[in-house]
Amino acid sequence: MTAPDTRHLMYIANRPPIVMTEGRGSLLRDTAGREYLDFVQGWAVNCLGHCPPVLVEAIAEQARRLINPSPGFFNDRAAELAELLSRRSFGGRVFFANSGAEANEGAIKLARKWGAKQRGGAYEIITAERAFHGRTLATMSASGKPQWRELFEPKVPGFVKVPLNDLAAVQAAVSERTVAVMLEPIQGEAGVFPADTEYLRRLRAFTAERGLLLILDEVQTGIGRTGTLFRYQAVGVEPDVMTLGKGLGGGLPISALLAREAVCCFEPGDQGGTMNGNPLVAAAAIAVLREVLRPGFLDQVVALGRRLRDGLERLAAAHALGEVRGEGLLLALALRDLSGPEIVRRAMDRGLLINSPREDSLRLMPALNVSAAEIDRCLAVLAEVLRELRAAPAGS
Ligand SMILES: *Cc1c(COP(=O)(O)O)cnc(C)c1O
Repeated sequence: MTAPDTRHLMYIANRPPIVMTEGRGSLLRDTAGREYLDFVQGWAVNCLGHCPPVLVEAIAEQARRLINPSPGFFNDRAAELAELLSRRSFGGRVFFANSGAEANEGAIKLARKWGAKQRGGAYEIITAERAFHGRTLATMSASGKPQWRELFEPKVPGFVKVPLNDLAAVQAAVSERTVAVMLEPIQGEAGVFPADTEYLRRLRAFTAERGLLLILDEVQTGIGRTGTLFRYQAVGVEPDVMTLGKGLGGGLPISALLAREAVCCFEPGDQGGTMNGNPLVAAAAIAVLREVLRPGFLDQVVALGRRLRDGLERLAAAHALGEVRGEGLLLALALRDLSGPEIVRRAMDRGLLINSPREDSLRLMPALNVSAAEIDRCLAVLAEVLRELRAAPAGS
């Protein structure tokens, strides 16, 4: 097959000159017929791997029944999915959107509306330095990515940044304008930096005592990625508002904003979206959740995560690298002196796809149903690359 002409796509990222065309499980294939072992999985969205039969069948069946009746009507799949998410989390209600950014944008709007109605017009949201909440203007403003500081000015006002894991910094940042604290339980895009359990517990107590909302962005950590359905469940801290995305649709664009009943203060006209909660993507998410909630599935994620973590720790010890960060199947390896992008390139040459969210770290986020053999193969390729780099560093 000849590679298609990609020049009509807007230039928004440096991508390798390969074009993907097919996938199955942990394997991804390009137009030249080369196969890759995929430990990126569309940035942790394909939680069941590429084209899993349960998802393909759910989509095909729903596509034959109804794709989009308009958001002006209820549909059976969205209602079923909302009930499932509500029952499996902290109750309350659900608003569906199409991307993580859009779910977070909805969380910000909900907090501002709640502040206007319940907190005398308070609107400020305290967020974390290095946080990633998405690429709409408001979610970029809420994010703490250093490279974005000067970009697309002026930003949306109303966000105050504090360092992660520093409760005193949150306490000092609170004023009568504050309505909420918003963070990721594990900062994914920043390079997999967990919020400490004790910090989250004390933050929950503090926000409750001050009448502030706690918003957890579980777009990356949710849907089993860290070994529990939602990360907050492992930490024992219940948020007032939670957002989901990535793994929820198993690769299809659906995200969700969940909020405790008392916080659900949108009125007709405040929030919506033409594509939101259509039955096609909702059916996909139901199929994903049924799979992830099957008895034993999450135990398996924990076991596979431990296998990958153990292997990474062995590599770190053998090649004088740094710590392993993260939980479940959201893991990062600190590299000390080696270059992440260089390792990513060399791994790709050997048919392994991994990601380097920052120069000094690798991130691995395979399918949640990856096999033990695939984990071992990933570790073997990484060991080869590390041996090669330690023997002859890049550029020498
Ligand atoms: C990926 C991500 C987002 C943005 O999701 P999109 O679907 O790309 O808009 C938001 N928050 C977190 C924590 C993420 O990892």
